[in-house]
Amino acid sequence: MLIKADLHVHTTYSNDSLITPKDLVYYSKKRGLNACAVTDHNSLDGAYKIAKETDFLIIPGMEVSSADGHIVALNVHELIPRGLSAVETVERIHEAGGVAIACHPYVFFKGCLRGNVCGAFDAIEVINARAFPFKNSVKRAEEAAERLNLSRVAGTDAHYGPQIGYGYTEIEASEPTVEAIAKAIVDGHCSAHGQQVPIILNAQQQLLRLRRMVMKFSHRDS
Ligand SMILES: [Zn+2]
Ligand SMILES: [Zn+2]
Repeated sequence: MLIKADLHVHTTYSNDSLITPKDLVYYSKKRGLNACAVTDHNSLDGAYKIAKETDFLIIPGMEVSSADGHIVALNVHELIPRGLSAVETVERIHEAGGVAIACHPYVFFKGCLRGNVCGAFDAIEVINARAFPFKNSVKRAEEAAERLNLSRVAGTDAHYGPQIGYGYTEIEASEPTVEAIAKAIVDGHCSAHGQQVPIILNAQQQLLRLRRMVMKFSHRDS
């Protein structure tokens, strides 16, 4: 069956995201997705908790800060430590039964893998809907996927509910389970789709974040 999933979403379990578990399910459904990955920064707690609390198909994962750049790990059953090299991180992800994805490998940001993308990965996030510069990073990631013969996936890197689903992966899985989805991605039975998140949604996210910070401070002082 065809699964349509955003494979890169942060929830409030990442300090920098506004997406509550409720938002995650609401916006995923609204955007016509039938699954969504939870990939909080260096944390797995939220992913498994959210998966337990909803009937919606959640793909538990995390975004690992490796020494060489960010790596998305899907379907891992234990926390992957941060700070290891990219190759070591991919090994740990595989030992933990997971799928290793080189996320936003070519964006203008120090946390990206660039030259450390290699054949050890299972997939490349060729579309990251919040990548900057968007077109160039998609093009370079496509070229790397071609050269290394890796599966192509997409995700939004959403930190605000309405951003969910701008990047999504179509996965031809044998059944609607996390295991079947993970296997299909590794086997290359998937394709990357989507478009850049509209600037207005990124601006709204920043404003809401700012407001939240101000509210936190004012509560602390009162
Ligand atoms: Zn990242
Ligand atoms: Zn991310």
